[in-house]
Amino acid sequence: MDNVTASEIAGFGVGTLLLCATIAAPKVDALISASQRSSLGMCRRCGDLRMIACSKCKGVGLLRKGGFGVNFVDDFFDSLGDANRTIQSVPCNNCQSKGRTQCPNCSTP
Ligand SMILES: [Zn+2]
Ligand SMILES: [Zn+2]
Repeated sequence: MDNVTASEIAGFGVGTLLLCATIAAPKVDALISASQRSSLGMCRRCGDLRMIACSKCKGVGLLRKGGFGVNFVDDFFDSLGDANRTIQSVPCNNCQSKGRTQCPNCSTP
């Protein structure tokens, strides 16, 4: 342990803290913004953007032909090999391949 200096240990600690903060930040941000939105009277779901990510294509705008939307596990196995297998994608008919749909909370006039 003599070759590990105190500053190295401190650096490791700071690095771990930064990593944790980086991972936790989006979640905390989402939590705060959700409560802020409701307190500001904004739409909880979209923050008055009137658009949310398409639930059918997960915001990608494309669907697997004959599939049930985008399956990331399938994508993972596709990338492992089987390169000759063609993946056919069709534009998402739920969002017109925009990847966004009208917020159901706001779309009613
Ligand atoms: Zn909304
Ligand atoms: Zn879609």
